[in-house]
Amino acid sequence: VSEEESIDGAGIESTEVTRERVLERIREDSRFVLAAHEGPDGDALGSLVAMQGLLTALGKDSRMFIAPEDLPLPYEYRFFALDGLIQAPPADIPQRTVVFLDCGNIDRNSAIVLQEGKHLLNIDHHHDNTRFGTVDHVVPDASCTAEIVWDLMHGLGVRPTPVLARALYVGLITDTGRFMYENTGPRAHEMAADLIGAGVDVQDVYRRLYEEMPPAKLALLALALSQIQRFDSGELTLAALSAEDFQHASAQDSYSEGIIDHLRSIQGTKVAALVRELSDSERGSGRRKVSLRATDDDVDVSLIAREQGGGGHRRAAGFTTTLELEPLIAFLRGAIAAQLHPAPAPA
Ligand code: AMP
Ligand code: MN
Ligand code: MN
Repeated sequence: VSEEESIDGAGIESTEVTRERVLERIREDSRFVLAAHEGPDGDALGSLVAMQGLLTALGKDSRMFIAPEDLPLPYEYRFFALDGLIQAPPADIPQRTVVFLDCGNIDRNSAIVLQEGKHLLNIDHHHDNTRFGTVDHVVPDASCTAEIVWDLMHGLGVRPTPVLARALYVGLITDTGRFMYENTGPRAHEMAADLIGAGVDVQDVYRRLYEEMPPAKLALLALALSQIQRFDSGELTLAALSAEDFQHASAQDSYSEGIIDHLRSIQGTKVAALVRELSDSERGSGRRKVSLRATDDDVDVSLIAREQGGGGHRRAAGFTTTLELEPLIAFLRGAIAAQLHPAPAPA
């Protein structure tokens, strides 16, 4: 492939080319550090653990990095064995290749020093990835970052152990909403078949992720459901959880995971929003985390999130803001209306 052929109109290398460049780095380099986005979800963690297994199988020296503020992990992910995990970037960063997984922009990882790696491999599936790596392997068609790691694994001829297969499977089912979101295509099911063949115990994973729920998580869901607000004929369905709500329910921050799916499921909803006050270390800072979901392609929520410095996918995006609740809701209503009911151009 010539240089020209490998670059599309936007000056971005094709994924065939970036795939080869990633494979080359993995084959040639010997020391790695792996990182994912802050507040890691199932895809971030599954990709991290799977990449670690992959590099270890190839005899490489690889370290997984997770920042101390993200530990301990949410209860549903604690089964991941994070052997050799580091909570501070190693001193020899300039000699290591740093692999960022499921991380749409560099600000989503707090460890700035990681940018001093010898090479930065940016492996992700967010269409709005800011392409901060020395190699940007961004595959927006992939259902999850784990699907990209799965593809690399086959490219390197690594046979997955059951533990590696399970890590990939966790990324797959969490990012596809158990095969129900629009990103679920034939490849997602092919990947599932391959991983189950490699030893994934489907029901065991399901129980760990979606059952064994702490009662406080259900209490938080009840609080959210009891204060649902609907705007503009229900096009926007929103629930806002305050720090007091979390205290009331004795809930941890991560217990809000999944609430937004209930909001999106309400009849007439175009966009669901879950707003939660950031607690713990950030309590009192007045910052809020906003999760957005769209029910169809009429609204691109990643555009709305990006206006506030966040990002994500067309139908799932998020941002963090210092806006108070009232102006925040006004902003969301305006941004949704601008997409659903654009004002006619002035004559
Ligand atoms: P969440 O609502 O946190 O489950 O996130 C939904 C999607 O939006 C995921 O793909 C996230 O990676 C992305 N996302 C969430 N928050 C941000 C942010 N602050 N910046 C960029 N992307 C984000
Ligand atoms: Mn993620
Ligand atoms: Mn993902």
